[in-house]
Amino acid sequence: AEESNMIVAVRVRPLKALECTRNITNVVHVNSNNNELTVQAGTTADASAGVTHFFSYDQVYYSCDPELENYACQTKVFEGTAQPLIDTAFEGYNACLFAYGQTGSGKSYSMMGIEALDDAALDGNAPHAEAGIIPRFCHELFRRIEMVKHKLQVEIEVSYFEIYNEKIHDLLCVQQAAVASQPDVGMQRQALKVREHPIWGPYVVDLSVHSVDTYAALRNWLAVGNSQRATASTAMNDKSSRSHSIFNIVLNLTDLRPNNNGADVNLDPGSDTILSTRRSKISLVDLAGSERISYSGSNGERIREGVSINKSLLTLGKVIAALADSRKVASGSTPSTFVPYRESVLTWLLRENLGGNSKTVMLATISPASLHVEETLATLRYACKARSIVNRVKVNESPHD
Ligand code: ADP
Ligand code: MG
Repeated sequence: AEESNMIVAVRVRPLKALECTRNITNVVHVNSNNNELTVQAGTTADASAGVTHFFSYDQVYYSCDPELENYACQTKVFEGTAQPLIDTAFEGYNACLFAYGQTGSGKSYSMMGIEALDDAALDGNAPHAEAGIIPRFCHELFRRIEMVKHKLQVEIEVSYFEIYNEKIHDLLCVQQAAVASQPDVGMQRQALKVREHPIWGPYVVDLSVHSVDTYAALRNWLAVGNSQRATASTAMNDKSSRSHSIFNIVLNLTDLRPNNNGADVNLDPGSDTILSTRRSKISLVDLAGSERISYSGSNGERIREGVSINKSLLTLGKVIAALADSRKVASGSTPSTFVPYRESVLTWLLRENLGGNSKTVMLATISPASLHVEETLATLRYACKARSIVNRVKVNESPHD
């Protein structure tokens, strides 16, 4: 296995119109190399108490002002973060990209964008300017398949689910789609369980998996999942900020190598040519809002939510901290720190992506507003810790040499 550092990028969203009118200032600045940023804290309350915090990352995407030369649009963010993972996937490595940040900081805008139910996209047209990472990734994937299909057979399967209250809900289960459209019943959708497969590791039992041959087909599944997610979150006010959504793509790749006669191999099972196959699992994750959840809710549901959201995100924090520490303590030797993957559904399912067999990118999203400076600093510190994580990756290949 080879070592692969977790890539950590930060994206700064623009100030909102309302924020501009409320005496709120932009306290986040980026350097000219777009890899360092500073945050001015304490300047609104008391100028003399102002402190400048300094951070450094693999990349900073400054999306505050379209007039600026370094403005990072959706295309730029996709090309810098997710596009390289397409090569990774075709090589047979696992890949993961997850968005982390407080509610309203731009996680969903970055991951999905605002074309979620665009008809043109459903017809298979290219994603438009405000499409996010997931539709762009899917489109690029099929463009690449078209380019290599003479020498590579590619099979694609997708699944899409969310974790809410430590429970897993399939977003692509067609029978349940009808039920979920009734707001009251939406919350009672069947919860799925995680189990450990001896070879493939943790997986969701009975999760629906769908084969797709075209971008349009994939795009349709994405629309089904997004609308299920939206329906459920209207039924339960503000649910989307408290649930984690995970979109998985599995690529099965078979090399069509020439046989002894120099002709292309046919896929007849009777043929004695050994075909080399590779497999890659890609997880694109939009996490719940990282802000501390208030326990002031008077109904039980709300409190249970708070506890479990904290549980998955707190455990993610613990896992990242443990991996970062084990690195410090025992560089070179086996990590001795216990990593509590199984303490939450999220970290159990993302185990390979955090310190395991996966090339992983974290996109931390922040608000530039003085109003949010404490949450912004919390996100930036968390992101710094994640930078020290090193995964051990290998190609998922058979037959092995
Ligand atoms: P989150 O998913 O983190 O809660 P959203 O992605 O829903 O946050 O973003 C909150 C609001 O800010 C949305 O209206 C979104 O369209 C807008 N927004 C976020 N990031 C950007 C950006 N980079 N450029 C323009 N608008 C953005
Ligand atoms: Mg969101």
